[in-house]
Amino acid sequence: MASASALDIHVRQVSKSYGAVAVLDRVDLHVQAGEFLTLLGPSGSGKTTLLMVLAGFTRPDSGSILFGTQEVIRLAPQKRDLGMVFQNYALFPHMNVAANIAFPLRLRKVGAAESARRVEAALEMVQLGGYGARGIHELSGGQRQRVALARALVFEPRIILMDEPLSALDKQLRELMQLELRRLHEKLGTTTIYVTHDQREALTMSDRIAVIDKGKLAQLDTPQRIYSKPSSRFVAEFIGESTFLDVTMAAGVCRYRDAVIKADGAPLRDGRCLMMIRPEQLQIVDGAQDGMNCFGGRIVGRVFQGDTMRIEIDLGGGDIVTLRVPANSAGLKSLPADGGSITLGLAIADTTLLPDGG
Ligand code: ADP
Ligand code: MG
Repeated sequence: MASASALDIHVRQVSKSYGAVAVLDRVDLHVQAGEFLTLLGPSGSGKTTLLMVLAGFTRPDSGSILFGTQEVIRLAPQKRDLGMVFQNYALFPHMNVAANIAFPLRLRKVGAAESARRVEAALEMVQLGGYGARGIHELSGGQRQRVALARALVFEPRIILMDEPLSALDKQLRELMQLELRRLHEKLGTTTIYVTHDQREALTMSDRIAVIDKGKLAQLDTPQRIYSKPSSRFVAEFIGESTFLDVTMAAGVCRYRDAVIKADGAPLRDGRCLMMIRPEQLQIVDGAQDGMNCFGGRIVGRVFQGDTMRIEIDLGGGDIVTLRVPANSAGLKSLPADGGSITLGLAIADTTLLPDGG
């Protein structure tokens, strides 16, 4: 839920080049007030540059940025009312925890008593109550990142920007902090833009995800839709596991070899297209089923992965698809040996067709 003072952000046609390289290419993005939006993309796709443009540390070559109704493109960083958290904490090592958190309040000339009260509240918020007098060097990585977060929150900014804030932490702590950040966001309702290259982190935390590819916005949607209805092969490959089969569209009818494929959504343009298959969407069936596209194939391999079993199926003609089923599922017991034939079903509602290439 958005807090009363949360702002929406309009990024319009923002471009930035370094030399001949377009690092941001006409990016359009609307972040809703109170939303937790993640910029997700591979290393070098322009995520940090976009965040720096939003923060005011990098001036774009062209475009417009509105915080609410205010154009901020010419506004200095300290006038943008932003809280920022970076990967490497950027805490002052010679100051204790409380002085680090109070720093933005000092800049804003908040009085001592009010400052002390707010610092204590911010520490409570990040579950570090009573840690004010500690030195930074006495803290673990996770605690330091909480201090950095408290410092970003203490002056109640209307927008928070975070650039891979958890990537220096080990997996367990990272997953804990993901849930904590999410909980904190639900409590405060501050408009948040979060940068990560970790698709799982993006899926876990975000209201919406903006997938960035080479400085361009590839797709902006909810985690569920980004995963189940990617708009391109790039998005589908970047998020989750998938296999692509060549299919052909002719007069609005899709075929995989001779078999007609039914899919959700509008037909694509005639020509070669791709059918995306996620391993958990495939099911083992007893033959043709209503509401499903069915494929015959032979088992060519299986790998036990603890909670799941991965099974490789050869559909012929070099097309291998992967099926993932819970290791305790009943169907596994009656599965033929390697080389045996089975029929796979893919629900029409799950069948996603994508343009070839891209
Ligand atoms: P990401 O955060 O997605 O990894 P960045 O925004 O840091 O990507 O960088 C995108 C591209 O812009 C990279 O190719 C990087 O080398 C280039 N780049 C970023 N900042 C500068 C700069 N100050 N000068 C020249 N090239 C830069
Ligand atoms: Mg970066």
